[in-house]
Amino acid sequence: MNIPKTSNPRIVIIGGGFAGVALAKKLSKQEVQVVLLDRNNYHTFQPLLYQVSTGGLEPDSIAYPIRKILKDFPNFYFRLANVEEIDTVKNKVRTDIGHLKFDYLIVASGSTTNYFGNSEIEKHSMAMKTIPQSLDLRSLILENFEEALLTSDLNERNALMNFVIVGGGPTGVELAGALAEIKKGILPKDYPDLDTRMAQINLIQSSDCLLKGMSAKASEKAEDFLEKLGVIVWKNLRVTNYDGKTATTNTDLTFKTETLVWAAGVEGAVIKGLDSEYFVTRGNRILVNEFNQIKGFENIFAIGDIACLCTEEFPNGFPMMAQPAIQQGNQLGDNLLRLLEEKPMKPFVYKDKGTMATIGRNKAVVDLKNFKFQGVFAWFVWMFVHLFFLIGFRNRMVVFVNWLYNYVRFDREARLIIRPFKKRLKEN
Ligand SMILES: Cc1cc2nc3c(=O)[nH]c(=O)nc-3n(C[C@H](O)[C@H](O)[C@H](O)COP(=O)(O)OP(=O)(O)OC[C@H]3O[C@@H](n4cnc5c(N)ncnc54)[C@H](O)[C@@H]3O)c2cc1C
Repeated sequence: MNIPKTSNPRIVIIGGGFAGVALAKKLSKQEVQVVLLDRNNYHTFQPLLYQVSTGGLEPDSIAYPIRKILKDFPNFYFRLANVEEIDTVKNKVRTDIGHLKFDYLIVASGSTTNYFGNSEIEKHSMAMKTIPQSLDLRSLILENFEEALLTSDLNERNALMNFVIVGGGPTGVELAGALAEIKKGILPKDYPDLDTRMAQINLIQSSDCLLKGMSAKASEKAEDFLEKLGVIVWKNLRVTNYDGKTATTNTDLTFKTETLVWAAGVEGAVIKGLDSEYFVTRGNRILVNEFNQIKGFENIFAIGDIACLCTEEFPNGFPMMAQPAIQQGNQLGDNLLRLLEEKPMKPFVYKDKGTMATIGRNKAVVDLKNFKFQGVFAWFVWMFVHLFFLIGFRNRMVVFVNWLYNYVRFDREARLIIRPFKKRLKEN
């Protein structure tokens, strides 16, 4: 890997997401060598992926080069690598570009889509966890309308314009809202010769409310906003299979659709070597103690989505969200420095800064600890917070200008099939 030998301790971080980047920044300019490994050379701002899928933003504005984030740090090395295995005995990671020894290892590999073992759904549905997946979804949505124009078979046309989103969490709710806005504001202009009123957006949730982790008020209001936008919300309904044409459910209800988006769950992206039942708990996450140390090790840690730190308030671990990941990255940075100075580490305490989701133009729900609000003000708060947490001044400016333009013009300019997605090829 051509990482120079050093007399300083070598800290290897797997993953340049929210947790890994926060940690690397904390360790900058310290007497340690930091090696960050990621299979992508960019950090992804996942909360805005749905805007890429729906043509609201270009992918470049929600991604940021990892090398640039840490360019001024002399002790920092980045390698574009997929980590394939962790050897906890020899303190070594095996990657597709070679081996690397570590003194301290931090697993910050995040999470991946959870299909709950259903390989048919995995094969035929669309996920929205990475930028390439979001671009595939954007292409498929647009290709569907192009195809709908060409067919004279009414059933086929309806299936092409029928969108099924499984999972009523923030991802499903935000995507459904954005699609409804496209249906209302853009499709009639782009496809005047197609009856786009026939397009359907179905949001399916297995429990009795949307946005389960949020307040009852936020959940009710989100449903109300979606229904006003024309989204069909199905509650207490579970999709049991999807063969690429028809989605079956736990009732007699079926959906004929060419596009099923699976936003029903995520699970920890565990890596071989730490994937046994001994380490992994509910949701395929790695069990850690209050210092984020993995069971049985003094020098191997996990942070962010992949880590499951159980507390009285969060017996199943912290929510898989950006804030716990950032806070754990920051705290572990401090703790590693304390460890090197032979001082005792401090236990991690999560500061819940609230949750929010947007449903569309002027519509959002925000739950803060002592204050819950919905509507236009919530939408401005949502926008401000997302701009604030985006990495890079250029990205903030580009996103801000795009949002302003889209707001004033009722438009989404990035509705481009740059990289065609051939669903049939995926299925073969
Ligand atoms: C569509 C969507 C919307 C979301 N909306 C919100 C929201 O509104 N608010 C919120 O707080 N949270 C939201 N989240 C969740 C939030 O993005 C995650 O909780 C957060 O990204 C977790 O950070 P992390 O650092 O643990 O993992 P990630 O940010 O996922 O980073 C993990 C990194 O590890 C790399 N990696 C993984 N495995 C390997 C390997 N084997 N080798 C090399 N590299 C590897 C990946 O490439 C990635 O860069 C959303 C997530 C999604 C998918």
